[in-house]
Amino acid sequence: MILKGRNIFLVAGPCSAESRDQLIGTASELIQKVQPDVIRAGIWKARTRMNTFEGVGKEGLKWLQEVKTMFGIPVATEVLKPEHVELCIDAGIDYVWLGARTVVNPFMVQEICSALKGSNLKIMVKNPVNPDIKLWIGAIERIFDTGITSVAAIHRGFSTYYSSPYRNMPLWEIPNELRRAFPELPIICDPSHICGRTDCIQEIAQQALDLEMNGLMIESHYNPLLAKSDKDQQLTPDQLQDILHCIIVRNRCESLEQKLKNLRNEIDTIDNHLLEILSRRLQIVKEIGKFKKTHQITILQSERSKHIFTDRINKGTSLNIDSEFLKTLLKTIHNEAIRIQLDIMKTDSDSIQTK
Ligand code: PEP
Ligand code: MN
Repeated sequence: MILKGRNIFLVAGPCSAESRDQLIGTASELIQKVQPDVIRAGIWKARTRMNTFEGVGKEGLKWLQEVKTMFGIPVATEVLKPEHVELCIDAGIDYVWLGARTVVNPFMVQEICSALKGSNLKIMVKNPVNPDIKLWIGAIERIFDTGITSVAAIHRGFSTYYSSPYRNMPLWEIPNELRRAFPELPIICDPSHICGRTDCIQEIAQQALDLEMNGLMIESHYNPLLAKSDKDQQLTPDQLQDILHCIIVRNRCESLEQKLKNLRNEIDTIDNHLLEILSRRLQIVKEIGKFKKTHQITILQSERSKHIFTDRINKGTSLNIDSEFLKTLLKTIHNEAIRIQLDIMKTDSDSIQTK
């Protein structure tokens, strides 16, 4: 699509194809409102939990074919097994992508690659669910090894056990590292799966373009409330149009200002991590405090704190962190732990609270 005079590669469409009407209806509105380059729709859905919608299966290929002939637009879907590749080739699908749950399994990636060999399909490779750049690189290398040259990576964020403002943390440093490893490889950002909701899609899409990503994959459904998968993160074509109008496409030249912005984005991500980890640590401090109270154990265990200080300073200095700075940081953290546990000892109830 053309955005502010600049060409931005846009893949849009529903998370899943649900019916002929839903797919054709959504595609038609999208084409009218945002002129995507490719229409996407998942027809085989790898779901985390059983008894949820697992896609319409190969029947959906016919609807994708219809979209392709009716509107003259390329179409894309996810392949999870070699058989899916064969069905997509037969149906004249243009793009297929490997999903985050497939990329974690090199054996399956290899089997899919064997089926891809010799085809004209264009391939997009999502990052794996976990923040392991080697798995992502490994899958991309296996695709290159098939001889297929039309390859792009999709950044869809990384899952985390800890609470996070995102469904999948963007961890921008990982796609940035992929860019350094493969400077020519286009990287497309999928803000829908990063956000898991609609209100931060614009911000993430903007950051992706500011980090020089080459395109966007955004989920859109003509009636998201009725969507059978990922309903909270799908935009209506109208909402997508509004968001795209607000996005600023900045110059691609590597200006000093741009470089600074990229580095600051990385700092923001790292700070978010630090805060999540710190919050988890303080939560455990509370649990220990309750345990000490129930078992009548003193708060200060000097052997334990001595060990923590020596161990962390050794580890930290080997990571090039200044030892004086480490001492101050550890003291601050330790003091907060003592304050929290003193507070717990003060409370009247002797029962272990779970909160
Ligand atoms: C999808 O694109 O709908 C999807 C399932 O994506 P991911 O593999 O990123 O979870
Ligand atoms: Mn989805």
